[in-house]
Amino acid sequence: MGLFSRDKPKIKVQTSKKDGFSGWLKCTHCNELIHADELQRNSNCCPKCDYHYRLSTDERIKSLADPGTFQEMFQNLESIDALHFVDTEPYTQRLKSAKEKSGHSDAVVAGRCLIGGYPVALGVMDFNFMGGSMGCVVGESLALLIEFALSEKIPLVIVSTSGGARMQESILSLMQMAKTSAALAKLHEAQVPYLSILTNPTTGGVTASFASLGDIIIAEPNALICFAGPRVIEQTIGQQLPPGAQKSEFLLEHGMVDCIVNRHELKVKLAEFLDYFQRNGEESENGSKKSSPKKVASA
Ligand SMILES: [Zn+2]
Repeated sequence: MGLFSRDKPKIKVQTSKKDGFSGWLKCTHCNELIHADELQRNSNCCPKCDYHYRLSTDERIKSLADPGTFQEMFQNLESIDALHFVDTEPYTQRLKSAKEKSGHSDAVVAGRCLIGGYPVALGVMDFNFMGGSMGCVVGESLALLIEFALSEKIPLVIVSTSGGARMQESILSLMQMAKTSAALAKLHEAQVPYLSILTNPTTGGVTASFASLGDIIIAEPNALICFAGPRVIEQTIGQQLPPGAQKSEFLLEHGMVDCIVNRHELKVKLAEFLDYFQRNGEESENGSKKSSPKKVASA
């Protein structure tokens, strides 16, 4: 986790004198002063340079799901400390503070909703929960979500952001890569579409498994997307990486992602893809097993 934090712009709070938070922030990407309200209204993108800051899972779901349609699933899953892992503090303690901080039981929120009127199975990862790390609960929630999409024959959408596997769960967390990938193979066989959205940062075991297995892979602009981070690679090979390596734009150029979509246009773009899948499904339905999302009236 802390691995990728050094070159990541963080919003600096500009305080005025002694009365605390003035509402003004300094964008560390363009150094312009921006107001917190303006940033919030702009989906956490800098109004001056359009740098995409992180969205919480709740904000992300709100930005994608049709109003009032999201129903959370698999909330009963909770991590156990199977290895009795202690680093600078016990894993149980870390889990407890992460739950309090994020208001969610682990680093993913999964459920069903409508996007542009189309029913989808939606999973959204949460970087605020232990760096969006994937342990057993993230893997199991996503595997269950994939199985749900399969049984309902509705498209799957996963918004990823992650520091990788959760080291406190050691090999158990690595097994989640295989589990989610195997579930996706079944989804693929049944020709149920999967749209993978990569946001800043998507790294490690998440990049190396379900995040890279989308039928369509969409990235937000300027997102770090990699297995090992740039510094780790540079230290390993003793060479500097080309500028912009492991960013969305570089990956698009090299065919690793299909498109880069600005956050403001993401929902519309998703609806377009869902519409495309529906038409395509209808055309090939004639005796084929291809599924198609059925548009239902939006509330
Ligand atoms: Zn900016």
